[in-house]
Amino acid sequence: MKATTYSLHGNAPGTEQFYRAASLMADELIEITNGEKALHEFDQFVLKKSYEAMEALVYVLEFVMIGILLKKYGGKGTLLHEHGGKVLARLFALKRKGKSSRAVIGRLKGIVNTTLLVHEGKVVSRAADLAGIKQFYRLLGWLESTDEFEQETKRLQIWGEFFSGKSLDDSTRELLRAMELADWFEQRSLEILGAYTTNVDSFIDNKHSGLRWKENQIFCTRSRVEYHLNMVGAELMNRAFRSDFLNTEEKRVLLPICMREKGEGSCRAVQTEHGYLCKGCMKDCQVNSIAALGRQHDFQVYMVPHASTAFGQRKEADSGNIGIVGIACPLNLISGGYKARELGYEPQCVLLNYSGCSRHWHDTGIVTNIELDRLKSLLEIT
Ligand code: SF4
Repeated sequence: MKATTYSLHGNAPGTEQFYRAASLMADELIEITNGEKALHEFDQFVLKKSYEAMEALVYVLEFVMIGILLKKYGGKGTLLHEHGGKVLARLFALKRKGKSSRAVIGRLKGIVNTTLLVHEGKVVSRAADLAGIKQFYRLLGWLESTDEFEQETKRLQIWGEFFSGKSLDDSTRELLRAMELADWFEQRSLEILGAYTTNVDSFIDNKHSGLRWKENQIFCTRSRVEYHLNMVGAELMNRAFRSDFLNTEEKRVLLPICMREKGEGSCRAVQTEHGYLCKGCMKDCQVNSIAALGRQHDFQVYMVPHASTAFGQRKEADSGNIGIVGIACPLNLISGGYKARELGYEPQCVLLNYSGCSRHWHDTGIVTNIELDRLKSLLEIT
């Protein structure tokens, strides 16, 4: 089957090579950022300000993410985004909270994305022009206005505060360094992970004009480097949150509905407050196999209709006691990891072997799957 955008199989029958490649890329990123002054200073800043401290590996991910987002979107951010981003973010949040019609806000998002965000405007592309703190806050406004980077923006606001506390020269130097790192990451990740994202560019070329005015146009046109960033980000977050996940008393696995073999009309899954529970109506459905594994090894399996609502909106009262394995396509992995932590869960993740939902990637939808051994290994099932 031809992958719509990415495939963890690459040119091999299994996905083992992909997971080895993602691990290698993560190792190289850690090595190249070893001793990076900004990472150490940011760690101290977070402690001093009493923000929730994250593991050092997460700061490595965030530093290269800053460079990649500045390079990719920094030139699009304007004064209008800087001041209007928060207003739009509050409006889009109503949709997630179910306080307003999803369809109406979705349409509005399509209009906003097409008129304000995708439009190139005056393109700033020289690294030196993008590396200022002013441009950084315009980027944050732009990211907020898209409704696609909710969690990333929250984290980068803390980095913005960190950079603002420095002299203009120092903050510019560190933002330039983040962009240099992004240059290295873009090139090296193409060598190591490029075999798994070969169809992303052609997908964007073919779909771009059809996505005009649609709410998912920014999500569906994310670039290869952003896929690679999320693939490596998933590896770094899995390492960073691993021991806390293993220490949790309860484990849950969250699957996307594109994994079920039957469509909405015939799947027998029933809705609960945490997601849909599979009723095992089909032997060959991988959701059914994973649910059976859950009964055998004492973890609950839920299907969730959309990544943005996967964890609900309420913070878990028993914070730190529930471990979640989230299964998703790469573009949702970094934001999913942050969101899980924000709501009191300890996350791990497994990538879908390829994407196929009809909402984003395929006209009629194709059934997706995962490498079961990968899930078993995260849950320490032998
Ligand atoms: S086996 Fe479960 S998930 Fe698959 S179609 Fe049936 S009820 Fe739905």
